[in-house]
Amino acid sequence: MKVAIIGTGYVGLPTGVGLAELGNEVICIDRDPSKIERLNNGILTIFEDGLEELFKKNVAQKRIRFTTSMKEGVSAADIVLIAVGTPPHPITKEADMKYIHAAATELAEYLNGYTVIATKSTVPVGTGDDVETLIRKKNPTADFDVVSLPEFLREGYAIHDFFNPDRIIIGANSERACQLVKQLYTPFADKTTILCVKRRSSETIKYASNAFLAMKIHYINEMSNFCEKTGADVFEVAQGMGLDSRIGNKFLNPGPGYGGSCFPKDTNAMAYMARQNGVNLSLIEATIKGNEARYGQMAEKILKAAKSDSPKVGVLGLAFKNGTDDCRMSPALSIVQELIQRNAQLTAFDPKAMDNARLILGDKISYAPDIYEVMKDADVLAILTEWSDFKDIDLSKAAELMKQKVIVDCRNLLNKDQAIEAGFEYQGIGR
Ligand code: NAD
Repeated sequence: MKVAIIGTGYVGLPTGVGLAELGNEVICIDRDPSKIERLNNGILTIFEDGLEELFKKNVAQKRIRFTTSMKEGVSAADIVLIAVGTPPHPITKEADMKYIHAAATELAEYLNGYTVIATKSTVPVGTGDDVETLIRKKNPTADFDVVSLPEFLREGYAIHDFFNPDRIIIGANSERACQLVKQLYTPFADKTTILCVKRRSSETIKYASNAFLAMKIHYINEMSNFCEKTGADVFEVAQGMGLDSRIGNKFLNPGPGYGGSCFPKDTNAMAYMARQNGVNLSLIEATIKGNEARYGQMAEKILKAAKSDSPKVGVLGLAFKNGTDDCRMSPALSIVQELIQRNAQLTAFDPKAMDNARLILGDKISYAPDIYEVMKDADVLAILTEWSDFKDIDLSKAAELMKQKVIVDCRNLLNKDQAIEAGFEYQGIGR
């Protein structure tokens, strides 16, 4: 099938590469010429495990191309996927639709023959109707359907998730459109559920899912606070809870609060939509508030452990989670910013996200070339991202390098007993 993807970011690029690998003819469109130039020169613009190999293979086999030209991409396509950003509005926190509306308007004039326009971006309920209206206005005779095709991939596992989806949701108000999109996903038909629903239901499924996951994280974070006060161990509590199949054992890892480009934005957008519709979503509102407060609580915990007014903090991890270079709404960066405001001096290292973090933090902190440089003369070592590289740090070397042997492990990554044995004062989360 001929597929055009508008937006070549954390969703569009892995999706394009994955669809090419399935044998489709893919053209990725982005309005950012520097991205397209790098991709055309064989340079990846994001880090994702397993992406590079598939990218190179499919470029070599000419199954995927990159362009800034909407005309070149859209005119030959059977399906156009929209995967542009829907960032939070700075004041209302609703999903900002300017990129979606621009993409719909820009693509309209190049539609050629029956085409399905499928929105992969996470969009408010009713967006499908708006996209349809915008296209119809610009190109009244176009033969098209607009479909909601929400994306559920996890950053850091994008390629794995593309080939092993839990489910594929197709929100279509036309049977013809639904069948065409189903055809695209035929290779997965035997191993996953492909669910066709109303377009508005599909748009809601994405937000309802992300808000639920965010609540689950916040729930175990609050339980970890309870465990810290009562002498229970949150690991044991999570294990015991997770054995109940109604609860499940996933997403019960306490940490520094959820972050990233999706959960904070999508919970806020959902809450906004509910308020607009006069619906009380008190659980989501409480989750948003509680999660925002958590970054400050983590900074407080680190400062308290450092026992100094102007401590030197060694920071391991800046990405919002392991496996990605993405720093958008990273809990690590929020904690770092809280620490800066409270007079701490910071030196940080991240295996993949240093460049992106530098764009946000500038010279407010020092950047170390490796894990151990971070520890030199530090009053406290703060582990903020769960990179597996950090799991195996040489604790005796760390003890020699640091001024005080104190670790605050916001990801419960280290073996607590080993850290204590190496002479560290160790604080995890909820233990
Ligand atoms: P991103 O910012 O990484 O990429 C968006 C890309 O779209 C950018 O490269 C931008 O230049 C391009 N773009 C914007 N307007 C354009 C236009 N008119 N024409 C061509 N290109 C245009 O965003 P992302 O993280 O890939 O997210 C995209 C959407 O997918 C969002 O709605 C997000 O909520 C959703 N989503 C993201 C993830 C994730 O893990 N990142 C997961 C599921 C869903």
